[in-house]
Amino acid sequence: MEDLIQEAVRRSARYLKGLEQRSVAPPPEAVKRLGGFDAPLQDEPTAPMRVLADLDDIGSAATVASAGPRYFGFVTGGTLPAALAASYLAGAWDQNAAFHVASPTTAFLEEICRRWLVALFGLPPGAGIGFVTGATMANFSALAAARHALLGRLGWDVEARGLFGAPPITVIVGAEVHVSVLKALSLLGLGRERVIRVATDGQGRMRPEAVPPLTEPAIICIQAGNVNTGAFDPAADICELAKASDSWVHVDGAFGLWAAACPDRRFLAAGIPEAHSWATDAHKWLNVPYDSGIVLVADPRHLQASMSASAAYFIAGDAREPSHYTPELSRRARGVEIWAALRSLGRLGLADLIERNCRYARRFAEGLKLAGYDVLNEVVLNQVLVSFGTPDRTRQVVRRVQEDGTCWCGGTEWQGHAAMRISVSSWATTGEDVERSLRAMIRLASDR
Ligand SMILES: *Cc1c(COP(=O)(O)O)cnc(C)c1O
Repeated sequence: MEDLIQEAVRRSARYLKGLEQRSVAPPPEAVKRLGGFDAPLQDEPTAPMRVLADLDDIGSAATVASAGPRYFGFVTGGTLPAALAASYLAGAWDQNAAFHVASPTTAFLEEICRRWLVALFGLPPGAGIGFVTGATMANFSALAAARHALLGRLGWDVEARGLFGAPPITVIVGAEVHVSVLKALSLLGLGRERVIRVATDGQGRMRPEAVPPLTEPAIICIQAGNVNTGAFDPAADICELAKASDSWVHVDGAFGLWAAACPDRRFLAAGIPEAHSWATDAHKWLNVPYDSGIVLVADPRHLQASMSASAAYFIAGDAREPSHYTPELSRRARGVEIWAALRSLGRLGLADLIERNCRYARRFAEGLKLAGYDVLNEVVLNQVLVSFGTPDRTRQVVRRVQEDGTCWCGGTEWQGHAAMRISVSSWATTGEDVERSLRAMIRLASDR
């Protein structure tokens, strides 16, 4: 066992070291070699050392180097050293994080993470938390809590009776809502097409004056960090407006909520603590391994009532039972890596990670503008949208950047324009990585 684990660590270390040199997108030959896995399941067992060697020898080369310093796609983030190490140890622990009695350590660490995160984001200190797979499930869980609260007030027990015959709930989203919120609404029986879509401005921010007048409590979904521009919906205005109708405000802050943990960027999150629920990802800007999302609900009773398998009610002072706050029962102990990441960074380290990534985003924008290209968004956070001319030309440059392998950026559409999206969200990215990537982008874009 010990040799095997050491071999896994040795191979991991070699992989991580190699990320510096290799192409960020896997070379097509390496992807072709994945055919090496394509065999019928054999009858006989295979020695674990051999299994590991197969994975590394065939698999490693065909991975995307998203753990490396020059991956700027999809707000992915890397993995902090302490979080990776914690993940190895937690793998050895193999705890079922569902119940306190099944794993006191992980249940306790989750509670510590709850306190730390609530303080970092400036949220109500009693907020409830659930550790889920990602922001999609965090949005789902928060909206389930909202559904419970709103229907509960009308005397309808949605967990017991379902939605058939229930009073309708108005759901409001911005025109730039993330698809994961719509998916969560569809899973909850709230429907993705019956939502009211509110017009947004040129940065994708919801226009508060475009929110229709509300006479009944509604669910209003806003976002902290538009996935294209990084822009924040005006949370203070919307929370104020929601008060009159006793509406529930949910914040999709998959990556943007982390701005609240950075004094330099906190202004973006003004008003966000006034909301009722929040979704964020630890696997994005906190740089922990996949999969790791977080749901927070100001009044934990609503989350607990919607998530606990039995109709048991929240008793103040009880030890927190992890599975009462998540859709899952058995699950891995995500809190361990979150705890390790926060413990290793500290408040200052986390603020520095956010601030540094935002500074690099501004440097990308500045460098590309200087080279004559159009930056389509106000670079307020870590996202940069750049156009290289016509839509076809832009898409061609995106393809070239991906094939070149110095760095990796995705293509997107922004309000009718094709764009390349640069998302700076890894602890591993250095100023030199930014300069090197910028040089490659400009070289590839100026090549006719
Ligand atoms: C990434 C993202 C999501 C979805 O997160 P997953 O972790 O992939 O489920 C939702 N909303 C926004 C704004 C995002 O950036």
